[in-house]
Amino acid sequence: MTYWTSEDNVAGKPGTALFIILPTIGCYRFRIGKACYMCAYPTAAPKARWSQEAIVDYVKEALKKIEGKKGPFAVRMFTSGSFLDNGELKPETRRKIFELLAGMENIEEIVIESRSELVRYDAVKELAGIVPDKHFEVAIGLETANDDIADVSINKGNTFEDFVRAAEITHEAGARVKTYLLLKPVFLSERDAIEDVKESIVKAEPYTDTFSINITDIQKGTLYERLWEKSEYRPPWLWSAVEVLLWAKRKFPEKRILSDPVGAGSKRGPHNCLTEYDRVIGRAIKKFSATQEISHIESLKPGCKEMWEYIIENGLLDWQLITW
Ligand code: SF4
Repeated sequence: MTYWTSEDNVAGKPGTALFIILPTIGCYRFRIGKACYMCAYPTAAPKARWSQEAIVDYVKEALKKIEGKKGPFAVRMFTSGSFLDNGELKPETRRKIFELLAGMENIEEIVIESRSELVRYDAVKELAGIVPDKHFEVAIGLETANDDIADVSINKGNTFEDFVRAAEITHEAGARVKTYLLLKPVFLSERDAIEDVKESIVKAEPYTDTFSINITDIQKGTLYERLWEKSEYRPPWLWSAVEVLLWAKRKFPEKRILSDPVGAGSKRGPHNCLTEYDRVIGRAIKKFSATQEISHIESLKPGCKEMWEYIIENGLLDWQLITW
């Protein structure tokens, strides 16, 4: 079963998120051979198409995990693609799912994901109308506001202008915008990756309610994995994530700044020197994300920090490093 709960920020306060991976056929970009270079999520999509009724039943089953429990809960639904893609979920299916969520008082926040070009006013407006009292966000994978990086390092197939259009439609339709940014696309130095996220936050801020800093992890079968295997790419340092999160929260205190460092402290995930302390930093980032209190990440012990500072100051590229 691909649903689980985890400590998270719920509409601005600490709570619990229920994550549900909906068994749709997954991202159309993957199906036409144009997946983003870091992403293997659509490979987990079912090979045989589930009926739309079965998908609704699946959501009902997942919701039992939080039924009758004290919230606040957020429900974050992922499809390994786009919730607003009619090829994955029919409008009627989306409606039925939202009606289920509308009936549960302990759910205060709902998040769906979509690529920019699939965000349509009518679809968002209808869903927002079903859950008028809940914090409803459409998460859009911008990854970077730099179109060249989006193209060369990510193969995103969207521009910053596409994102702006999708964000404006989302707001006009009565929902909020969560912007996904990727920390450390390939071919960038650690220093340039940090700068890219900061610049992207500044550019996307007028269109964004919540930022989610997605820290690269190495997923199977991707271009990122191939470069990583050849020692030409390393997932970001946890110190880079801490640097970006502190900077973003201080600069835009009214925005939610979230991050879930998947695989923190492992070779395939963001890491510093792969010591036990990496996992402490990973947990501190999760705590910051849930509470939005920077105290969790501003006074961490400086384990391995000198090496990271040297790499940043000198703008070293991953293939120039001897120690990862
Ligand atoms: S990151 Fe999103 S848009 Fe890109 S391939 Fe993965 S699911 Fe599709």
